[in-house]
Amino acid sequence: PPVKPIIIHRAPWLVTVAGAGPAAGAVAVAGGRILAVGEFTELRSGYPGAEVRDHHNCALVPPLVNAHIHLELSHLAQPGPNPVPGSFTAWVAGLLARREQLGATGENVVAAARQTLDQQHRSGVIALADIGNTNTAAKLAGAGPLVLHFREFLGLTRNAARENLALLAGEPEMNRCTAHAPYSTHADLITGLKKRARQRGHLFPLHVAESAAENELVSSGSGELKDFLRQRGFWDDSFQPTGIDNSGSVRYLHQLGILDERTLCVHCVHVGREEAGLLAADKARVCLCPGSNRFLGVGRAPVGLFLQHGILPALGTDSLASNRELSMWREMRLLHEDHPDLDPAAILAMATLSGATALGIGQDYGTLEPGKSADFLAVPLPGGIRTPGQLLDYLVTGGPAIKPVWI
Ligand SMILES: [Zn+2]
Repeated sequence: PPVKPIIIHRAPWLVTVAGAGPAAGAVAVAGGRILAVGEFTELRSGYPGAEVRDHHNCALVPPLVNAHIHLELSHLAQPGPNPVPGSFTAWVAGLLARREQLGATGENVVAAARQTLDQQHRSGVIALADIGNTNTAAKLAGAGPLVLHFREFLGLTRNAARENLALLAGEPEMNRCTAHAPYSTHADLITGLKKRARQRGHLFPLHVAESAAENELVSSGSGELKDFLRQRGFWDDSFQPTGIDNSGSVRYLHQLGILDERTLCVHCVHVGREEAGLLAADKARVCLCPGSNRFLGVGRAPVGLFLQHGILPALGTDSLASNRELSMWREMRLLHEDHPDLDPAAILAMATLSGATALGIGQDYGTLEPGKSADFLAVPLPGGIRTPGQLLDYLVTGGPAIKPVWI
């Protein structure tokens, strides 16, 4: 077989996210895979014929994973700040109105989605979990990030559940399907969707405990979200299944048997200590969206609580309908701002390792280790970075000004 050329990438900083802290180092690659990671002199003697590429003033970093986005909502970007901060139902109403006015499909929708996908790639994102209920994602084929697309189902009434389960039965075999949220999707429909995902080994990402209004609806069966749903004809009083403890969205999903290591609970803002324990016991995954949570004014996720329970959340940008800008670097910065005590190394691991693990692509991405993909990032650094701590601080606070280069 033809010999694959070996290249050694050398940099003043190597951030493997695989245990050891940042240090000077090198990564040897061949045939699209990482062969070895370590000190340059070691790699040099191990692969004497290899070409050496120097990345001066750069840190070599694993590529980012955006664990939650809706590409098909990109054309619904709001020009200014959220006009209704703090009111989740007002935001949902505004989103539905904008989608009614601007359309849900068509050339402009695809063009905006493609622009978002390109921007994600330029910012260093290797893969994203994309949720949608149109066929926009299918029109985005081509180079760029790996798009794990999920067709989203919702419907809260018995009839809507029945209709959607019939539609689901007709979905092409390997299409990934998921539920929108506990407050918008009938228990029978969530259960049917999860059963289907489980049979296929698919990830099951859904919105969980995003707003106080959701918590009120799930725990009491009433409140502004119920009024909103009823006004729109989405309510038939079949919401609360008997024999289920509804005192929180996580507990509700736990009781329905939805939570396992392939369930990705997105947002998890309104989660209490006992519910964090349930997530951990069920080995469920968590994805935080600090930018979206801030834009909507729904609160801050209890990150410390998740870490105490051994859950390292993934991070996602959510869509331009609920976030000013879709940058994983910015999400890290916002998380750091919201939780200044968080270890920057943990924040970087959320945007890389935890996202890759949650999406089931940890064998290829998430860290710089032998056997993984040779698609990783060289992040140009400003002057003055002399310690591992300063480097990690820069990576999690640099925000969208960080312009990584793909290796
Ligand atoms: Zn979302």
